[in-house]
Amino acid sequence: MQPEGSGEIPAETVRVAQAAFPKGSLAIRVRDELGPLFTDEEFADLFPSRGRPAWSPGRLALVLVLQFVEGLTDRQAAEAVRARIDFKYALGLRLDDPGFDFSVLSEFRDRLVQADAGQRMLDGILSAARDKGLLSGRGKARADSTHVLSAARELCWLEMVAETLRSALNALAVAAPDWLSEVAEPDWFRHYATRAEDSRFPKAPAKREEVGRRIGTDGMRLLKAVTSPAAPTALRAVPEVETLRQMWVQHFHLIEGEVLRRDPKDRPPGAKRLVTPYDTEARGSVKRDTMWDGYKVHLTETCGDDTPDLITNVATTDATVSDFDLVPAVHAALAERRLLPDEHLVDTGYVTARHIVAARREHDVELTGPMMPGTGWQNRAGSSETFPVGAFTIDWDRRTVTCPGGKNSTRWAREPVRDKVEIRVQFSKTDCGACQVKDSCTRGPRRKLTLQDRDIHEVLHQRRAEQETDAWKERYKMRAGVEGTISQAVNRCGLRRSRYRGLAKTSLQHQLTGAAINLARIDAHLTGARRARTRTSHFAALRPADHTISGAKQQGPN
Ligand code: SF4
Repeated sequence: MQPEGSGEIPAETVRVAQAAFPKGSLAIRVRDELGPLFTDEEFADLFPSRGRPAWSPGRLALVLVLQFVEGLTDRQAAEAVRARIDFKYALGLRLDDPGFDFSVLSEFRDRLVQADAGQRMLDGILSAARDKGLLSGRGKARADSTHVLSAARELCWLEMVAETLRSALNALAVAAPDWLSEVAEPDWFRHYATRAEDSRFPKAPAKREEVGRRIGTDGMRLLKAVTSPAAPTALRAVPEVETLRQMWVQHFHLIEGEVLRRDPKDRPPGAKRLVTPYDTEARGSVKRDTMWDGYKVHLTETCGDDTPDLITNVATTDATVSDFDLVPAVHAALAERRLLPDEHLVDTGYVTARHIVAARREHDVELTGPMMPGTGWQNRAGSSETFPVGAFTIDWDRRTVTCPGGKNSTRWAREPVRDKVEIRVQFSKTDCGACQVKDSCTRGPRRKLTLQDRDIHEVLHQRRAEQETDAWKERYKMRAGVEGTISQAVNRCGLRRSRYRGLAKTSLQHQLTGAAINLARIDAHLTGARRARTRTSHFAALRPADHTISGAKQQGPN
């Protein structure tokens, strides 16, 4: 790679672009406001210092972002570089520059993935925005996650195991055609030469089970042949063979020489379970009524001041990672890039008292979101006549708890539970047995409490009380705008389905989506475009003024 200077825009390109776009375009306005955005030096580590000169990586990075701004395919993006005046202006190219072959974009993405460099595009835009005063420090930020479908098609169980076997056979047919011709059974050509379709399998459950056993037996025979001393050892390293091995371990077992399907309870947890042979990092998950195979993306954006709402962090995980597991990683990533807010507005899935305490202590960030109510029946009873934990008085120094009936606890013990410590408290059976208000307190012979450490316990109860106030609800309203951002990412950039297979490439797609939305928002800010408003249906418009709509959302900017 031979670095090129960030370069002036050729005078002829400027003259023609200004004549053809008297009001400018997104690409022209962004170039005028933010400059070239990326330099070749920023991507020099992705290329060998010797060899054929590469097309300018700084310009390729901008093409990737513009591609997502406009939802273009690689061919369309390469054609835009060759044919569009505003693209040539943004990239600082001469009008007669022939551009590049569309395959260059795919090669460049592979280099970005290998170097885990997808965030550089997002950071380049944020850095330019900060220099121009479009990104202020600290303030408020909001976050949410959404599901992302794998690029591979969804498969029923029979399709999944049949396709896994077919994929391994295809890979072996390339790696060792003579060997496979010898070991393949005649029936395999009939069953696995073409794509498995559910419509071709029998409908009756008993017959489907029989087909499943036949596929399991065939797969086991192939694995036995691949691992036999007579087989070339290199075949064991073929990725599709490894996928077949993992899939068979997860779905079949040998009982008295017969290959049988495992009971669903006997399979590995969702975080390890393969869902398709064509994307081995995709995982299945469920959130409320939504079931999907693939990934999850978490977006954090600025909000609440006069600058455009910009996405400051994009994190992609497999579908099984819970939201609250991501909080420390998101805060660490924001801290490293000097993008931490004062207050981080999130939904219930991200908030625990432990995370609130950690965010304050480690990052001076107030993590704000509604806490889940307590799980005991005393919390659910909905009556002021029951005694949840909050009704007890805790003396942390003396390690004693006083109950609403005026009795002191008889046991206080710290016990390790997984990665934390819990405090177990209990009262005397004698006191509780004779208690006049026992029915409001416990259904057992005595009351027992489980507490967290003092700082966590106090945050938990303060927050549960605070979130009932109108002031807190008014402050929290701002979080809903991030759902408009997710809608924008889905509709404008195709966030809902991964374009590529594997976590690393899906993550790059999401970083580019974040960068593209930021460019679109900066452009909307420059042109003074009004924020999109939540559409109100004709029926909703008839509602009485004092009646709020459940689940109403604030729309983010387009
Ligand atoms: S049941 Fe036991 S802990 Fe509860 S109020 Fe009565 S004495 Fe206190």
